Parts: sequence; C-alpha cells; structure tokens
Amino acid sequence: MKLSKFVSITGTIHCKTGLRIGGTKEGVPDPGGSENTVIRHPITSLPYIPGSSLKGKIRSLLEMHSSISGAEIAADGKPCGCGNCWVCKIFGSHGMKNKEITRLVVRDGSLTKRSELELRTAQEEKGLNFVEIKSENIINRKTGVAANKGLRTQERVPAGSEFNMNMVLKLFEGDDEEKLIDIVKKGLDLLQKDYLGSSGSRGYGQVEIKDLKVEELPIN
Ligand SMILES: [Zn+2]
Repeated sequence: MKLSKFVSITGTIHCKTGLRIGGTKEGVPDPGGSENTVIRHPITSLPYIPGSSLKGKIRSLLEMHSSISGAEIAADGKPCGCGNCWVCKIFGSHGMKNKEITRLVVRDGSLTKRSELELRTAQEEKGLNFVEIKSENIINRKTGVAANKGLRTQERVPAGSEFNMNMVLKLFEGDDEEKLIDIVKKGLDLLQKDYLGSSGSRGYGQVEIKDLKVEELPIN
C-alpha cells in the first residue's frame, strides 16, 4: 500500500452542555473535592478531550448506523472486524491487525485559548478548578423527595467551553478519498445528534462542531 496523501480535518468542539470525560484523582489537586473527576493534563490540570474518547465515540456511532458504514454489529458487541466496511477502512479492523490499516489519527483536543482564559479567570474569581461541580440527587420513589444521602457530585467542563479538534486522515493509492472524508463527516454529524463523554441521557455532552475545515497536507 502506497501512501498518497494526508488530509487534515480540523474544527472546534463547542460544548453546548457540560462535558464529562472521566479521569482519575491521582496527582491532580482537587479543591472542590468531587468524587467524580474529569480527565486533565497532569501538569497544567486543564481538562482536555482524549483523542481515544473522540475516536471511539465516532467509531461506535458509525458502527451502530450500519446503513452508513456497512459495519457488522457483532453479537458480543465488540467493534467491527470485517475488514471491508467503511469503519474498518477508517478506524482499522478490530482484532484483525493486518486486514485493514488505521487511516484516521485523532489528536487529543486541548482547550482553545479563549476557553482556557475564561476557565483561568473563573478559577481566580470563583475558586473553580477549571470545571464546575454538579450535584445530583436520587429521588426517593415513595416520598418523591430528593434523598440527601443519594447526593453525588460530578465534575464537568462548563457549557460554552471549546476544544480544538484535530484529525488526520491518511489516504493510500486507490482509496475513495471523497467517500472516506464523507464518512468521517457523517460520524461528526452523528456525534452532534448524540453526545460525547458520559451521562448523555442526563443532558451532558451535547456538542457542536464549528469551523470544520478539510484540507490536504503536503506529504513532504
Ligand atoms: Zn467492518
């Protein structure tokens, strides 16, 4: 297989609602004391979107929409490994290392400069650790009252925050360039209809992709 070109797919991920991609508490100062922290850069403590989270979500959405991707939904729920569908061509065929190469590289998404500045200001003025702490109650089924003991706290990146999206699609000789780009775009479209991160059924993780740009990168 001969590499013919790189195509860069970039944009801005705008959080329409609070975004929660879970992290660990280790090594990160956590003055809010939330038990459910978001993933952060270990040195700057700034939240980011791991490329693996974004990639995994887009892949799973495309697989679920097999009319778009042609993917086979396995009975065990594992990712498609057929080696022939658009998902396998773009993301690699699961469990069959040599059947299809991974064409899409998804970078970690850092906060845009503007969002970083806003969260730094909120940290200075309100003592927030670059996130909001959201409390959630569990309602007692008999009394209809929120039980205090059921209170849990979750960190999430506040609505309005924006992250840089940066992906590279590797194209090989004989690839249907237009179709491959179109499938990635359809995946991003599905992402906007669904959600990113966790607790989407409770309103988290609604995102909009802004300033989508597709351009060829010089190979040398
Ligand atoms: Zn497949």
